[in-house]
Amino acid sequence: MGFDTSGLLPLSDALQGMLEQLACCCDSEQLPLPQALGRILASDIASPLAVPPFDNSAMDGYAVRLADLAAGIPLIMAGKAFAGQPYQGEWPAGHCVRIMTGAPVPVGTDAVVMQEETQADGDRITFLAQPEPGQNIRRAGSDIDKGASVLQAGTRLTPREMPLLASLGIATVPVRRPLKVAIFSTGDELKPVGAPLAHGDIYDSNRYGVRAMLARLGCDCLDLGIIPDDPAQLRAAFIRADEEADVLITTGGVSVGEADFTKQLLDELGEIGFWKLAIKPGKPFAFGRLPRAWFFGLPGNPVSAMVTFDQLVQPALAKLAGQRFERPLQLQAVTTEPLKKSPGRLDFQRGILSQGPNGLEVRSTGSQDSAVFSSLSRANCYIILEPERGRVAAGETVTVEPFGGLLL
Ligand code: AMP
Ligand code: MG
Repeated sequence: MGFDTSGLLPLSDALQGMLEQLACCCDSEQLPLPQALGRILASDIASPLAVPPFDNSAMDGYAVRLADLAAGIPLIMAGKAFAGQPYQGEWPAGHCVRIMTGAPVPVGTDAVVMQEETQADGDRITFLAQPEPGQNIRRAGSDIDKGASVLQAGTRLTPREMPLLASLGIATVPVRRPLKVAIFSTGDELKPVGAPLAHGDIYDSNRYGVRAMLARLGCDCLDLGIIPDDPAQLRAAFIRADEEADVLITTGGVSVGEADFTKQLLDELGEIGFWKLAIKPGKPFAFGRLPRAWFFGLPGNPVSAMVTFDQLVQPALAKLAGQRFERPLQLQAVTTEPLKKSPGRLDFQRGILSQGPNGLEVRSTGSQDSAVFSSLSRANCYIILEPERGRVAAGETVTVEPFGGLLL
């Protein structure tokens, strides 16, 4: 076949292998609603009340009884109902009640007629259309029944959930404490931003990517900086991370030749698996455990580090944090240009997805070298090419995955 995938682990096997070992490690706490934004629900939420809590008007108009309309003569306005100020007087036959949106409908109301379908002459109201029973009335419980399950444990609280919980009168919510993640970059060549570069040095970019993704995930980050390729310093950093965090994520030092340091250390301190993944970019990847903390070793190449974090580490962190995790939707699109690919590994190429005249179209961001970070920053999706697939011609259909919240 001209390619050798022996010894390369499929992404799905790696993911399954990790997830089987991991369980939520974050205790729960009760937080006031505003502070719970971005946190993960620790238990299911059942509604303590019906929403809406009472029958109310969906329109500005008039509450009527159908029997009063049968005579076909104008009705006299008996009074008014506002949101927060229910109508309280008598409601004699032949009368209607002026009512505003959200106001409780008076007892006996059959329908609300919208203002535009009436004519007022002083307090004599003529109805221009015959309403259906129940028209423009929002029934108590029509949105949510009392006791109904509204949110499941594992849900991350976003701006969409906040008003829902508030509408139920829920003032505090049970949420998981954030996962604590230590990170460091390895490499003698790395310098922090702001420092001058000597010949042979490069800026440490991975740590800024990993930090940003951890922030998106709501993790607490302990940033241990850059650790040189020196066993004693690496050892100290591993031990500190293990003492202070739930998870350690490093970048670099897991490819052939360099892995030895990390491997020796982890063999001594805990257990480690070095995997060669059947994906591109991102072949070298390490997963293991320290005495207390879980360990993820990402490849040093910046694109590989981001892609393996997104595809492998993100679901693992979600499980540890108690979050239900779903990958973004995958879609089909037509590539407008040829894509380089050799059979063997699952490719995560970087693409630009757009709406074309005949449906979704995707094009490449250019060089797919795992060191070329600009190919990721210009992209808005992955182009996912199956392992067995070879070169793709313009006009072929490919699977794309728009970047989810992590990379946006
Ligand atoms: P390594 O996995 O340590 O062999 O690194 C692979 C490549 O990625 C090398 O060219 C490194 O210089 C580069 N690299 C490693 N770590 C980083 C980092 N934190 N930021 C940018 N490039 C890195
Ligand atoms: Mg290195």
